[in-house]
Amino acid sequence: MKEYDLIVIGAGSGGVRAARIAASYGAKVLIAEGLNYGGTCVNRGCVPKKLFTYAAQFKNDFDTAKSYGWEVPEKISFNWQTLIKNKDQEIERLNNIYKSILEKNKVDRIDSYASFKDSEIILINNEEYKGKKILIASGGVCNKPAYTAKNKVLTSDDIFHIKKLPKDICILGGGYIAVEFACIMNSLGVKTTLVYRGGRILKSFDQDLTNLLQEEMIKKGIDIKFSTNIEDIIESIEGLEIKVQQGLSIKSACVLSALGRSPNVDKLNLGKTDVKQKKNGAIIVDEFSKTNIDHIYAIGDVTDRINLTPVAIREGHAFADSEFGNNKRSASHKNVPSTVFTDPPLSTVGMTAEEAEKLGYKVKTFKTQFSPMKYTFSDKKPKILMKLLVDEKTDKVLGIHMLGQDSPEIIQSLAITITAGATKKNFDDTTAIHPTSAEEFVTLE
Ligand code: NDP
Repeated sequence: MKEYDLIVIGAGSGGVRAARIAASYGAKVLIAEGLNYGGTCVNRGCVPKKLFTYAAQFKNDFDTAKSYGWEVPEKISFNWQTLIKNKDQEIERLNNIYKSILEKNKVDRIDSYASFKDSEIILINNEEYKGKKILIASGGVCNKPAYTAKNKVLTSDDIFHIKKLPKDICILGGGYIAVEFACIMNSLGVKTTLVYRGGRILKSFDQDLTNLLQEEMIKKGIDIKFSTNIEDIIESIEGLEIKVQQGLSIKSACVLSALGRSPNVDKLNLGKTDVKQKKNGAIIVDEFSKTNIDHIYAIGDVTDRINLTPVAIREGHAFADSEFGNNKRSASHKNVPSTVFTDPPLSTVGMTAEEAEKLGYKVKTFKTQFSPMKYTFSDKKPKILMKLLVDEKTDKVLGIHMLGQDSPEIIQSLAITITAGATKKNFDDTTAIHPTSAEEFVTLE
C-alpha cells in the first residue's frame, strides 16, 4: 500500500492550495479528483459566470455608446456559441494550469474519486492508499428537488453548457445564483422570470441595497414573482410547466433551479469513519479545520462555513501551514467581503445594520444614492447606492455596502479599511479622486 504524508480529496481551489503548500514544505502529497481540476469555481462557478457577466454587460455598453456619439446598428446580435467556445477554451487552459501547479510542486495526482475504506485507508480505483493526514476538500453540489420533470430542469452545472439560448427562462430561487443568472439571461435577450418563495431577494444582505436591486432588475424587464411556492414542474408542449401554490402555473421553455447547494459527501463513504457531520451532511470541523478524528481535516464548501472560493483557499493554506509548515494558524472568517454579480453588482463587507444591532452596537448610517457620471447623456440611469455603517461609540466602520457599477472593485479595496479597524474619521481624512463614484465614500456626511 502506498503511503503519503497527506492525501487531499478534491482538487478545487482549496484542495489544490493545501496540496501545493504542504508539498512546498516537503510533504509527500497525493491529490484525487474525479471531475475537473479547479473544482466548482473554475469549471461551474465563479470563472464561467464572470465571463458570462462580461458578455451580458455589453448590452448596457452598446446603449450608452450611442449617447456618446457612437453609431451602433439598430439590430445588434449575440452569438451564444462563440461565448461557449471561448469560455470552454479558457477553462481548459485553467484546468491545465491547475494540473501543472501540482506537477511543479511534485504532488501525485490521480484523476478519480476517492472514498474511505476506514478512517485510515483511502480507496481510489480499488487501490488502497494510506495518508498520515487526510484532507477532505470535495466542495458542494447543486440541490435538485424531486420535481416530476426533474431531469429537464437545469442547475448551474448545466447552464454553462446549453447548446443554444432559450427564448425564455424561468429561474427558481432568490439567492446568489438565481439573481446573477436572471441578470445575465435578461441582458442576453432571454425573457426572464424569477420565481422566489420569499418577499425580498438576497435576504441576508442589506435591505436598502436589495430593495434597489429588485427595482433595477424589474426596470430592466425581469419578471420577479415573489412569495411564490413551487408545487411541481412537469413537461408541457412549450417546454416546462411550473405549478405554483399561488395560482396560475408558469410555462417556460427552460427552467434553471438555483435552490441552494449542499456539501459534496455522497461518494466519500464517510459512514466507514466516525467523522461527525451536520444534518445537511456538512463535515464538522474546529477553527483549524480539524474534524473529530485526529488526522482527518476538511476545508471549503464541504464544511458549509462560508461557501466562497477565497475562503476555501485561505482555509487550505492555513491547514498546510499549521500541519506541515510549523506555523499553527487558522483562517479568519471575519469581515469576508463578497459580491453578487448582478446588474448592477451588489458588494459588501462587514456587518449589516441588523447584525450590528444584534451584537449591541448603536449604528450610525451614512448613505448616498446617485447615478454614475457615465450615464449623464443617457435616458437610462442605473443607480448607485453606498452605505457606511459606523459604531456611534468608537467611530469604527462596521460595514460597507454598495450596489452599483464597479462595486466589486471598490469594496475589495475598502475591505482593507475594515480589516485595519478604520474609523469614519479616517474616511473623512482621505482625499477624494475626482470625478469618481468611489469618492463618495470619503465625502459622506
Ligand atoms: P443560496 O443559498 O444563495 O440561495 C438559495 C435560494 O434558494 C434562496 O433564495 C432560498 O430561499 C431558495 N430555496 C432553497 N430551498 C428552497 C426550496 N425548497 N423551495 C424554494 N426555494 C428554496 O444558494 P445558491 O444556490 O444561489 O448559491 C449557493 C452558494 O454558492 C451561495 O450561498 C454562495 O455561498 C455561493 N455562490 C457565491 C457566488 C458569489 O460569490 N458571487 C455566486 C454563486 C454562488 P430563502 O431565501 O427563502 O431561503
